Amino acid sequence: MEEQRTKVLIIGSGPAGYTAGIYTSRANLHPLIYEGHQPGGQLTQTTEIENFPGYVDGVQGMEMMDQLRNQAERFGAHVVSRSIASVDFSKRPFRCVDERGDIIIAETVIISTGATAKYLGLPDEDKYNGLGVSACATCDGFFYRKKKVAVVGGGDTACEEALYLSTLAEKVYMIVRKDHLRASDIMKKRVDERENIEILFNCNTVGLYGEGGVEGARIVRNLATPEQEEFDLPIDGFFLAIGHTPNTSIFKGQLEMDDEGYIKVEAPHTYTSVEGVYAAGDCADPIYRQAVSAAGTGCRAAIDAERFLLEKGLE
Ligand code: NDP
Repeated sequence: MEEQRTKVLIIGSGPAGYTAGIYTSRANLHPLIYEGHQPGGQLTQTTEIENFPGYVDGVQGMEMMDQLRNQAERFGAHVVSRSIASVDFSKRPFRCVDERGDIIIAETVIISTGATAKYLGLPDEDKYNGLGVSACATCDGFFYRKKKVAVVGGGDTACEEALYLSTLAEKVYMIVRKDHLRASDIMKKRVDERENIEILFNCNTVGLYGEGGVEGARIVRNLATPEQEEFDLPIDGFFLAIGHTPNTSIFKGQLEMDDEGYIKVEAPHTYTSVEGVYAAGDCADPIYRQAVSAAGTGCRAAIDAERFLLEKGLE
């Protein structure tokens, strides 16, 4: 069991964590980045990223994360390929313990643990992952131009994803398990007005089919009622929009969070409810969830931490 001290501990990688690493290392703060079990975060699960400014021809998610990590390391960030298992934010410096039992004593902590898209839990979602199954229309919608796609969910995210996809795809089905949308009225109205969106109410997906990629979904309408019926829906893309879970369980009881577990921050700053602890990226953002917006908050968190250290004479 080792113990080490750091001015800045960054928990989590992805665009927020690595950007915080680039800024704090350039400020000569020698940050320690615990990149966790999915180094690079959600973007390493997607294929090509075409909406991050600066990449004219697009870039593979994995490649972009490697570049961000290398950029942080170039200026002195130390990247550790392990997870933090527990934190104690009750007094400063903060005491954090990693999964191996090593202790990190940190003057400031930047949390950038991200969020995980919820899936239905069907084995076919794994089977067709990257082959027609996606949880991000903004990332992958472009590949479905003039094709047929389905969006699962009836909330604001599902409506937003369906509207976005409807500008690219020939036809968009929304698969909604209830007889109504949960989304806000304005989103419902927009969906209603879009001619190529069709809502399939009272429908649940029970499987996907296709040779080498999604060619359709198996749907059950009116599940567990006398009117139950099963049918196949031919589609090329299957998009999940049933919510995200922020990866914040280890901070429960230590930081203020909303009902969904997103860390509360004092926007436009990244201050959490504990002085010296900052949150950036999707773990504190239920709305935008984009790589570029996460990178932006990572930069803000780094500057917030830097100013705090300066004020306390700890830089
Ligand atoms: P929500 O929790 O609001 O909606 C999730 C949807 O997925 C619901 O329709 C839910 O169905 C459905 N669902 C959940 N689990 C399953 C399942 N196992 N099978 C089938 N369907 C399922 O999540 P959102 O991501 O849509 O929104 C999160 C928050 O972000 C909300 O507060 C929303 O208003 C906000 N937001 C706002 C936006 C905007 O203002 N432009 C854009 C995006 C999000 P059911 O209704 O039956 O529970």
